[in-house]
Amino acid sequence: MKRANRVAWNEARRWICGGVNSPVRAFRAVGGFPPFIRRASGSRITDEEGTTYLDYVGSWGALILGHAHAGVVGAAREAASRGTTYGAPTVAETRLARMIAEALPSMERVRLVNSGTEACMSAVRLARGATRRPEIVKFEGGYHGHADGLLARAGSGAATFGVPGSAGVPTATVRHTHVVPYNDDGGVRRLFRRRGRRIAGMIVEPIAGNMGVVPPAPGFLRELRRITERHGSLLIFDEVITGFRFRFGGVQDEIGVVPDLTTLGKIIGGGFPLAAYGGRREIMRRLAPEGPVYQAGTLSGNPVAVAAGAAQLDYLRRHRELYARLESLAAQLEAGLRQLPRTCVNRVGSMLTLFFQKGPVRNFREASGSDERRFARFHRMMLRDGVYLPPSQYEAWFVSAAHTRRDVEQTLHAAREGGARA
Ligand code: PMP
Repeated sequence: MKRANRVAWNEARRWICGGVNSPVRAFRAVGGFPPFIRRASGSRITDEEGTTYLDYVGSWGALILGHAHAGVVGAAREAASRGTTYGAPTVAETRLARMIAEALPSMERVRLVNSGTEACMSAVRLARGATRRPEIVKFEGGYHGHADGLLARAGSGAATFGVPGSAGVPTATVRHTHVVPYNDDGGVRRLFRRRGRRIAGMIVEPIAGNMGVVPPAPGFLRELRRITERHGSLLIFDEVITGFRFRFGGVQDEIGVVPDLTTLGKIIGGGFPLAAYGGRREIMRRLAPEGPVYQAGTLSGNPVAVAAGAAQLDYLRRHRELYARLESLAAQLEAGLRQLPRTCVNRVGSMLTLFFQKGPVRNFREASGSDERRFARFHRMMLRDGVYLPPSQYEAWFVSAAHTRRDVEQTLHAAREGGARA
């Protein structure tokens, strides 16, 4: 068992590019190499060497009920025994779509897909197809999956044409992507004054989670709604992380801002590859087979994924008190982390980020002012003490319903030692 992680790492790198199937898993930002996970249960994951960690990644937010939740696993197992894919419609897909639409009333029609990337890519295509306009707007530090047009970051200035955030993305593609700092409604207004008539839509995380957690300034989302409406552009809320994370529904219902389109993922899949997008009926009608905008998938609405997702949502719907418990657990975690020197905490409900800087952190530029080397040292010490945190400063920690007060106390005990030495 000893050295089993290193053996697994060496073998993985021989056959898989970089040893991982998604880059951040490689631990490049924190050094060393990742433990290879063998099994998980509740709030804990166990690696190939038999070491168990308290997990705050939760498969990047998907596992709000914790690992291997009996109801979710049971539903998946039962569905798989009846066949793993048909490539034909099922009643279960309709049931899941209805559950989503009833929880997020702006999603009058829904389409199920396999990943958040696919949902966001398709929503943007639909926005362009429905408005017959070419340009889109995203926010600096916002992540909406790895579709070409969404892999743009800001140049200098409040609002610039994007430059590609990855090799292999043609400049011509992101020429149609504008990037504005998060929480800068003035920048958005100026951009729309110049380009409004050419802008198909704007995609935004209503609570940002991919530059670390950054909440929207008061009134920011309402202002985005006002500006896009005035210019006939569509507002797309990317609720891939936030959907069902704080309440049985979306951030949109909490704040009363109604987007034209919404993307979902993570929680709605119960830990399986499942995501969705949807919105107003007259926009969704532009989608094939009803309309001219094409989007399809061999495994879309996969019966095993749908069963697991529906089981997780069913459980959340029947146990809404769970959200209050998540809030109070995460508040306990936040209060303890706030004692660490030269750090600040951004938290919304059960997601938070500990930034290694004084703060405040209100956008990507401010997030980038963090001491990444201190974060890396902290991460290594926490891992050694049995706490598995996202291996990057610019990610959210997720508390699940499987975490307990004792888990949080154990975490804070480790953090006090790690924070003092890091
Ligand atoms: N949107 C948001 C807000 C995300 O956080 C992510 C992934 N973390 C995505 C889209 C892309 O989802 P996926 O990784 O399932 O493609």
